[in-house]
Amino acid sequence: MSTIREKDGFDFTFDELKCGECDGLCCIGESGFIWVNSGEMREIAKFLQIDLAEFKEEYLKKINYKYSIKERRVSQDNYECLFFDREIRGCTIYDVRPKQCRTYPFWEYFKNNTDELMRECIAISKIKKGKKDE
Ligand code: SF4
Ligand code: SF4
Repeated sequence: MSTIREKDGFDFTFDELKCGECDGLCCIGESGFIWVNSGEMREIAKFLQIDLAEFKEEYLKKINYKYSIKERRVSQDNYECLFFDREIRGCTIYDVRPKQCRTYPFWEYFKNNTDELMRECIAISKIKKGKKDE
């Protein structure tokens, strides 16, 4: 079975197999937001076997009316998600990770910023113009 995924409206493909060769670069780097909705919060808290209040306190920061997963500062301008495990170079809540993580790299933002995405993720290949219409 092919590990290469593509999605309508995006001019790139994503090869999941490459994640095995990567250091989890999509979970580390510049500080950003990793949004979680209320259903995801409940699911992750259940997975961690802690109550929702404790989960919010320990792992989330509130930005206006939304919540984002806290990050750990590793060095200057270099952060990692609290759920990123440096030993295994992967996500410790993988099965219940938020939708934002599940849908990466097929984000609206990357439709017009494929070059930026390619600098971040080794699994991306641009679809050659005309190829999709063959
Ligand atoms: S940056 Fe790309 S290749 Fe690396 S783990 Fe994330 S999705 Fe996989
Ligand atoms: S929740 Fe998991 S997949 Fe999402 S940024 Fe954090 S470590 Fe990465």
